[in-house]
Amino acid sequence: MKEVLGRPIDTTHFADLHVHTTGSDGKMTPEQAVEFAQSIGLSAIAIADHHTTKPALAAHEHVQREGLEIQVIVGTEVRTKDGHVVGLFLKGPIERNITLEQTLCAIHEQGGLTIAPHPFFRVSSLTDERIIDIMKSRAEGVYFDGFEVCNAGVQYQSLRNDRIQDTNIAAQFFYSHYRQNRSIGAAIASSDGHRYTCGSAITGYNGDLKTAILQQRTLAVQLEPHEQWELLLKAIELFGEQRVIGNLSLAELKEKFFGIR
Ligand SMILES: [Zn+2]
Ligand SMILES: [Zn+2]
Repeated sequence: MKEVLGRPIDTTHFADLHVHTTGSDGKMTPEQAVEFAQSIGLSAIAIADHHTTKPALAAHEHVQREGLEIQVIVGTEVRTKDGHVVGLFLKGPIERNITLEQTLCAIHEQGGLTIAPHPFFRVSSLTDERIIDIMKSRAEGVYFDGFEVCNAGVQYQSLRNDRIQDTNIAAQFFYSHYRQNRSIGAAIASSDGHRYTCGSAITGYNGDLKTAILQQRTLAVQLEPHEQWELLLKAIELFGEQRVIGNLSLAELKEKFFGIR
């Protein structure tokens, strides 16, 4: 595992704080997502489907019913006028297409936490100007609790297409520069998983997850390529080769996966 940014602490738990399911545009059902997360040893998973908290609530109920050990965080990813925002520890959905400031307030009004996902990435992402606006704002409820310094989905797309820039590098540079500003929040690493895995980028913490984020005591961690490959093998074991890799052979997939041409 590669430590990206954050406090070099003795991390005992790991969470994937940004996972999509069949509740929006993901492949795993909410139940499969939590079971996969538990099978790879995560302590917590946030289901953050687009414009809905229902899949996260379904995952939470599944964990309760089955007596699973993993913590499910009710989240959502919502489009604002300025790009995507992830809300965590929510009670219900958040209105879409309102301003960034209004969105941050709405999440905080529910007692939730606000995360800037895939900053600076192509479309649908917050720009540096708007993030700086938020850091300068003194308005109530207008701040970030977390900032994705690593989004595995961004890395995945840029590895496969030369024209797509890996904006994680810019996000890490930006975070390193502004980390003293409390309104940028904790360093977060997430998979933004849409397919049959999650956990390729994870946030390390100790004790209570929400408290750790609020106190900026997190460690953003990225799995090495060979570890990500193991996640994929685990997914094949759980969900079957046909579903996970489709019509590709394992050899072809390995070539794609490691970006070898
Ligand atoms: Zn997004
Ligand atoms: Zn997402």
